[in-house]
Amino acid sequence: MAKTALITGITGQDGYYLSRLLLQKGYRVAGLLPPDRQASLTKLDELASQIQVCSVAWTDAAGLLKVVEQLQPNEIYNLAAPSFVPDSWNDPLGTLDLVTGTATRLLTAVRQVGIDTRFYQASSSEMFGKVDRSPQDEETPFCPMNPYAAAKLHAHWSMVHHRQRYGLFACSGILYNHESERRPPNFVTRKVCLAAASIKLGLRDTLEMGNLDAKRDWGYAGDHVEAMWRMLQASEPEEYVIGTGQLHSVRELVAAAFDCVGLDWTRHVVVNPQLFRPDEHFQLVANPTKAKQNLGWEPQVSFEALIEKMVLKDLERLQSGAIKPSTVQ
Ligand code: GDP
Repeated sequence: MAKTALITGITGQDGYYLSRLLLQKGYRVAGLLPPDRQASLTKLDELASQIQVCSVAWTDAAGLLKVVEQLQPNEIYNLAAPSFVPDSWNDPLGTLDLVTGTATRLLTAVRQVGIDTRFYQASSSEMFGKVDRSPQDEETPFCPMNPYAAAKLHAHWSMVHHRQRYGLFACSGILYNHESERRPPNFVTRKVCLAAASIKLGLRDTLEMGNLDAKRDWGYAGDHVEAMWRMLQASEPEEYVIGTGQLHSVRELVAAAFDCVGLDWTRHVVVNPQLFRPDEHFQLVANPTKAKQNLGWEPQVSFEALIEKMVLKDLERLQSGAIKPSTVQ
């Protein structure tokens, strides 16, 4: 019989790639969407018609319990979170409730229904925050530096407590930045790739950037969701650090993107100190050895290939009119 997976945050970048992976594997895929977010289902494009939608508010514990009871999912992937980290400063309590509240309500529902559901919690490298060592692995202490990271850490511990106290098969992936053609343009990778494509097509001439020396461990979202699935197929529920293990600077990102369209980035990029972040991280880079050894997981898409995919997709979108040229000027 086909397995059933329930996904929160299904209309986000990871929700798309995870749904696609699970549908390819023959899963029945259901997505939890708050009643006021139903319209966002269109973000799943060609997958939307294959997803069963469960309309429940994140704060509705009884409603979430009912969904788990009726669906009896084999696997739950809890991806729901505000996607853009700096926004969490504007609403720390709302962030806590969405991130920690949803995880805890779902874990409680699984416990109360008493089924063998396997639970995946989307943890984040942001939980490491102000690190005292590099690279980070599963033993590295956490030191969250913003409300988003603190909420993610609380959700992470809620998952651990449910595993320890109630024996749930619950685990988490501590994921580093992962990007794709579906990343929103407020993230630096997409901002740069869209700008390179727009400049190539003569739609604009300059790109304002923040700190070019900032570095990240950037992977491909399609690779990272594969790791989520593998964690739930393992014999034991555990935590895993998921990243490429390689750091690249924003400067390298800009150079790679402009290179894809045959342009010299130094002619187009202007640094604007107002875009610098006050709480910039220290060398957040993964040591994914455990995932490689236990799950056989390794990233398949290199940094250069990722940037090329993103630039080419934006060129195509601009040329086909899927992105209106007037919006990128
Ligand atoms: P996140 O902060 O790791 O979740 O991801 P972002 O994509 O927003 O930012 C990655 C890094 O790029 C940060 O260190 C930023 O300081 C740096 N950065 C430099 N210029 C920009 C910019 O113009 N926009 C954004 N979003 N980030 C920038």
